[in-house]
Amino acid sequence: MSFEYAYVACVGLIIGSFLNVCIHRIPRGESVISPRSRCPQCSRPVRAIENVPVLSYLLLGGKCRGCGQPIGWIYPLVEILTGVGFVLLLYRFGLSTPFFVNAVLFSLLIALAFIDLFERILPNVMTLGGTVVGLLLAGLQSEVFLKGAGSVWGEGGIPSNYVNSLLGILFGGGFLWAVAALYLRIRRIEGMGFGDVKMMAMVGAFLGWQFAWLTILFGSLVGAIVGGFYIYLSKQGRRYELPFGTFLAFAGMAVVLVGPEALDWYLNRLGGS
Ligand SMILES: [Zn+2]
Repeated sequence: MSFEYAYVACVGLIIGSFLNVCIHRIPRGESVISPRSRCPQCSRPVRAIENVPVLSYLLLGGKCRGCGQPIGWIYPLVEILTGVGFVLLLYRFGLSTPFFVNAVLFSLLIALAFIDLFERILPNVMTLGGTVVGLLLAGLQSEVFLKGAGSVWGEGGIPSNYVNSLLGILFGGGFLWAVAALYLRIRRIEGMGFGDVKMMAMVGAFLGWQFAWLTILFGSLVGAIVGGFYIYLSKQGRRYELPFGTFLAFAGMAVVLVGPEALDWYLNRLGGS
């Protein structure tokens, strides 16, 4: 049992190390496979022994061995986040196909969260590609997420998983698209990038329409609170462009871990009052 956790944690750290490469190269349109990783300051190639997740960062004292320039703390952070995320998924789902499906979703969301934070873009190759992957994997997803919504769609099962994944794409993308289009009409500025729309289509493909909705709710709530504080403290004014995708990505991960309980709690409260 504890071996499983240790193994999944290691796999998570290694995937996290690969996500760092994706975060830095995909926005620049570079290949994530070749060339080998280099120091961004002095272009010194990173040797295999210096590429062990987290450990290398600690052993190198957070500095490049060639030029002594500091290595961003974001590298070990992404690795640890992925490792912890995978362990939580294992705790939630056990070693099962839903674990695998949601580990794919976590990897996409972690990479997208940091790309949006640094670059304010959500690359199509990940959002649209992720939507296709989510739909293809729908048959393996937990029925907690893609269960049939009432008698119309059947009570779970493989066919309705795909139907609900499609509904998730339409709702997740469609809802945000409508908000973005409306905002553009009224304020005449793009308040929300259409990258967010495509990313929510992806979340919908993995989690279905109910949990896509919950993700938007969580993400908007946390985004409004954190963004409000940030704008207030930094005095950048309301023109500051929030990385909404970052909030949605973390909301999506939270929904995978506690979404069904949160939705039950919410619906019970609605029914009770
Ligand atoms: Zn260097």
